[in-house]
Amino acid sequence: MPAITMYSKDACPYCDRAKALLRAKGQTWTEINIERVAGARDEMIERSHQKTVPQIWIGDRHIGGFDALHALDESGELDRLLGLPDHHAAAAAAGKAEHTRVLIVGSGPAGYTAAIYAARAELQPLVLAGFQSGGQLMLTTDVENYPGFPESLSGPEMMERFRKQAERFGSRVVEDDAVSIDLSKRPFRVKTNDRGYTADAVILAMGASAKWLGIESEQRLMNRGVSACATCDGALYRGKAIAVVGGGDTAIEEALFLTRYGTKVYLIHRRDQLRASKIMQERAFASPKIEMVWNAEIAEVTGKEFVEGVRLRDTKTGATRELAVEAVFVAIGHKPNTDLVKGQLGLDEIGYLKVEPGSSRTAIEGVFACGDAMDPTYRQAVTAAGSGCMAAIDAERWLAAQGIE
Ligand code: NAP
Repeated sequence: MPAITMYSKDACPYCDRAKALLRAKGQTWTEINIERVAGARDEMIERSHQKTVPQIWIGDRHIGGFDALHALDESGELDRLLGLPDHHAAAAAAGKAEHTRVLIVGSGPAGYTAAIYAARAELQPLVLAGFQSGGQLMLTTDVENYPGFPESLSGPEMMERFRKQAERFGSRVVEDDAVSIDLSKRPFRVKTNDRGYTADAVILAMGASAKWLGIESEQRLMNRGVSACATCDGALYRGKAIAVVGGGDTAIEEALFLTRYGTKVYLIHRRDQLRASKIMQERAFASPKIEMVWNAEIAEVTGKEFVEGVRLRDTKTGATRELAVEAVFVAIGHKPNTDLVKGQLGLDEIGYLKVEPGSSRTAIEGVFACGDAMDPTYRQAVTAAGSGCMAAIDAERWLAAQGIE
């Protein structure tokens, strides 16, 4: 078996995901923590030409980060590289779709809460947790506003607790992505790359993903200074000037976290007023390291191999100017992950699932929606959890009315 090397850091959600994937394949690896081993950060950047962790090598082959490792696994190539039998072929040979009464797609606070309630109703739900298992909270530092946790806790720690609670009552969590969802007839059909599932009721809790600016230079310098996760990549910019784009709670949270590392954090916002909650605004204004850059948008992220700066355009006057930074963290909101049900269910113009007001019921009987995939307004962990509870109760009642218990 080829040796595996992984550059990692503490509190790194994508490192944890990569390790879980390798562990599931019975692999061991040599880990080099870039925060603890002198010179490891620079060594990693030089070897990989990337500024994000993890960076993984299998033998001499540079794989990249978790997304690349996961893509390799999905294609079956990872098994070949590791000298393992192809798990897709094994799953296909296992044949028949597995049936479940309640299938929950997604594993953020909405999905896991739906699972807790459905499991306690003895429906033995199956949760397709996805490779982004845990949802957006996995990328969050401190969760300070979830009731019942006065001392706050980290997003990943919170999601681990949600998952344990769901499993304790009999939910089965499968770390796999749904790749197709067919709601045209009952039982509903959901496929992953490996296998098929049928379900009497489906709860859609796919959450939302970070939006990007959509400019060419952002794509070109992705993971080379451009990031959407301060928890993941902030430590790479110790002693550097950093930019954060956005004016919501996420942008402020990222900016505040980055003050641990950066000499200066520029918060670039397209208007002259923040959208974020008052308490977060006050913290940002009080930080000596955060400098507000009002009425500005990024026309271009500049730099050859790595980010060297941004070209800003004034949204009022159109004037441009350069700002030297080594990292750009994009925090401009999220878009719902509803592509798999587009054309089957009603979506609003942004892509949020439509539900009957005051319920989780979609236009298709037996299909329920909860969390950020259907909530354009509140988008909080606690509201997602609440709507997950509603979806499980709605599903349970609907199943009972069908005589399925
Ligand atoms: P958000 O509230 O939708 O804010 C997005 C920000 O990005 C806005 O300021 C928006 O500007 C800006 N923006 C959007 N598109 C842009 C573009 N193309 N170019 C430049 N700027 C752009 O999103 P969020 O901050 O991710 O928050 C999402 C939800 O999660 C919110 O409900 C928030 O309260 C919640 N949240 C809460 C916490 C917390 O409580 N600690 C932490 C994180 C998130 P405009 O203001 O001009 O529209």
